[in-house]
Amino acid sequence: QADPFRHCSVDELYQLLETLGSGHFGVVRRCQERSTGVFYAAKSVKVRKRKGSRLGLEREQVEREVRILQQLQHPNIMRLYDVFANQAEMVLILELILGGELFDFIAEKELLSEDEAIEFLQQILLGLAYMHGLHIAHFDLKPENIMLLEKGVPKAKIKIIDFGLAQKLQEGVAFKSLCGTPQYIAPEVINYEALSTATDMWSIGVITYILLSGTSPFQGEKDEETLCNVVSGNYEFEARYFSQTSEMAKDFIQKLLLKEPRDRMTAAECLLHPWIKPLTRKQAVNRSRSSINMKNFRKFNARRKWKLSYNMVSACNRFCRLQLLCQQQKPDEEVTALRDCESDQEDQPSSPGVLLRRRRSICS
Ligand code: ATP
Repeated sequence: QADPFRHCSVDELYQLLETLGSGHFGVVRRCQERSTGVFYAAKSVKVRKRKGSRLGLEREQVEREVRILQQLQHPNIMRLYDVFANQAEMVLILELILGGELFDFIAEKELLSEDEAIEFLQQILLGLAYMHGLHIAHFDLKPENIMLLEKGVPKAKIKIIDFGLAQKLQEGVAFKSLCGTPQYIAPEVINYEALSTATDMWSIGVITYILLSGTSPFQGEKDEETLCNVVSGNYEFEARYFSQTSEMAKDFIQKLLLKEPRDRMTAAECLLHPWIKPLTRKQAVNRSRSSINMKNFRKFNARRKWKLSYNMVSACNRFCRLQLLCQQQKPDEEVTALRDCESDQEDQPSSPGVLLRRRRSICS
């Protein structure tokens, strides 16, 4: 395959501006193309200098993300425009997304009808149907990776981001991986069975469930409990959270949260489900009369943000401890602590040694 990277310095062509966000292995900054004045987002990712080192990402992993993003050109998927690479890092020049996370946008609303929520869901499904049509699965769908291009416009546009765990699936080749975030992963991930585009559809079921009720279907007090709940597949629509929800919405979720991946609706089928595309006037009216449980949704979102910042702070603390430790240890012992899972257990500090790990560095 042709080398997809530029090997000159990114500064020659782009002026790097303020930081927009950061992930596990790098920073995202606003940047401006010098020749055109157009603004983009520059995502810098540290790459491992040598095999065996655990700091940074394997070069092949970033290359995989790049090759996948290069194939994806859809209005609801973040676009990749350019890539720079040197020995220490890679810089991805991405479409600039300034509207923040969808969940934060919704949490600011006073009221939201199912109708309005469906407009967002439909865009997510359009992006997914396109991606799945190319046999590409995202494998990390969660609220943090669903963003809005801009806010304050009449019809906000959804952008799916973070293709760090995405895979191009090959016909006849089973792909297995133990990656993801406990709340959103499908049973086949935990059981280490073959994954498919249907794995993403489970996550859509979980996201929809949360969006409508402000509760998470499988969330336990600890990650281990969450994982057990997912594997058992038991969940219910508790009346106190779902009193404003339409029966069609529940039917939609039920057709996604199915243990057997083949039984789940595909993204294309979801787009034809009567909750998304009503066939009769009665169905349309039902939808517009039902609404999101905003009070509970806001609570869920506040807790989610708290946990994300907690994880970030504890990761920083671990990193500082680690740096001290590394001064006394051999390089290969260095980052065991950094490989902890991104936990999403209920209001608890993340514990090391949890089964599921979000780090890309250990995913295959
Ligand atoms: P993770 O730690 O989840 O693996 P990552 O290192 O892959 O993250 P991203 O999730 O891609 O990094 O980006 C980190 C943050 O940077 C995002 O949460 C978002 O706030 C911001 N960000 C990412 N891409 C863009 C973009 N195209 N435009 C604006 N901000 C962005």
